[in-house]
Amino acid sequence: MLSRFSTRAMAMPAFAAGTQARALNVHEYSAKRILNDFGVKTEYGIMCESIADVEAAVAKIKSTKKVVKSQILAGGRGKGTFVDGFKGGVHVCANAEDAIATAKKMLGNTLVTKQTGAKGAKVEKLFITEAIPGIKRELYVALVLDRNTASPMFIASQEGGMGIEELAHSNPEKIKKLQVNVHNGVDEAAAIKFAEELGFQDAKAEAVAETLKNLYNCAKSKDCTMVEINPMVELEDGTVLCIDAKLSFDDNAAFRQPDVWKEEDLSSKDKKEVAADAAGLGAYIALDGNVGCMVNGAGLAMATMDVISKYGGTPANFLDVGGSAKTDQIVKAFEIITADPHVKCIFVNIFGGIMKCDVIAAGVIEAVQHMGDKLQVPIVVRLKGTNEKEGKDLLNASGLRVYAADDIDVAAKKAVELTGQTTA
Ligand code: GDP
Ligand code: MN
Repeated sequence: MLSRFSTRAMAMPAFAAGTQARALNVHEYSAKRILNDFGVKTEYGIMCESIADVEAAVAKIKSTKKVVKSQILAGGRGKGTFVDGFKGGVHVCANAEDAIATAKKMLGNTLVTKQTGAKGAKVEKLFITEAIPGIKRELYVALVLDRNTASPMFIASQEGGMGIEELAHSNPEKIKKLQVNVHNGVDEAAAIKFAEELGFQDAKAEAVAETLKNLYNCAKSKDCTMVEINPMVELEDGTVLCIDAKLSFDDNAAFRQPDVWKEEDLSSKDKKEVAADAAGLGAYIALDGNVGCMVNGAGLAMATMDVISKYGGTPANFLDVGGSAKTDQIVKAFEIITADPHVKCIFVNIFGGIMKCDVIAAGVIEAVQHMGDKLQVPIVVRLKGTNEKEGKDLLNASGLRVYAADDIDVAAKKAVELTGQTTA
């Protein structure tokens, strides 16, 4: 059977991506371990979670210089700055002592990079690696699923390293492409020619072609939606190594890639998202606003967020309870939404199709009763569709502080009003 990787075209590399795909990303140390299993060469390193780990690691790493690398799920670490002003999330340190001192500055600190946003990402793990001497040049190599050709494609540039985003804009012609036919895999001759375009000759071109094949095999076997090596380095002695690696995996492949999913860093995920996953609640995405939303269907979820914004409010989350939520799941959804102290009102916006309005109403009532005093915020419910009348009757008869509305505008306006925010 073809993997998803071979049959679906999507994902763009980080520097070209305009949309946000829901994909699993793993830390660099995990990515490198997975790549090693497919014969891709990386430098030796040890993942550390404490200074004691770092002390043990530097003793095991043979090179005098050591590289201390912050493990966060975002790129641009080298040029990043910690919130306390300490510069650089990746340091090449002169010796073991220097590496330990640097690790102390990074561990527990928060790193802000071009990709993290202003909030930054907390560094809870470090990857301590041997320093690679004699780097001649740094290349950019990525394997993506290209929409236009609906096939996997390598994109690469001789000018890799830390400025690839700028290069994509200023000199797009310097980015080379190699399309892969999924039925045949990576073609040897085409891969060698591609390596030559990147400035490799003879045995070196063959070695690079071999690396490309290994990267492709890894992506296909592991259901990657993207592999990004930046930089792939050529050393003075001709060796080619991948010294940074980012792997993204197709979320729909979680069931058949348990080894990969074990590497997921849940600490960097929103706690409420983790709880929603565990409760089997469709899609839950935490946002920054104060109107908690419970909606069925992704389209209605987006429309609900829009209409909240229209009335001057901001959604606290995106929650699609799907077409078959049971009462206990609705209770769970309420618990998750109200666990966010910013939530000042809950807006339940349901279109009853397969999911009947009276079931939702009963679920809302039970959830409100179940939560008792824990539920401090008002609820606005808009029900439309199958068994609408029965649903509203149930809500009205409940005597609870639940506002029922027919119209999406009226309901959204009410919800925003109840948060205490003023409408623009
Ligand atoms: P990023 O900034 O998040 O992409 O982190 P990278 O892992 O790519 O590291 C940033 C930069 O540090 C690389 O582009 C290299 O120039 C440099 N670097 C990383 N490891 C080594 C190493 O072992 N030796 C040397 N000399 N430079 C390194
Ligand atoms: Mn990099």
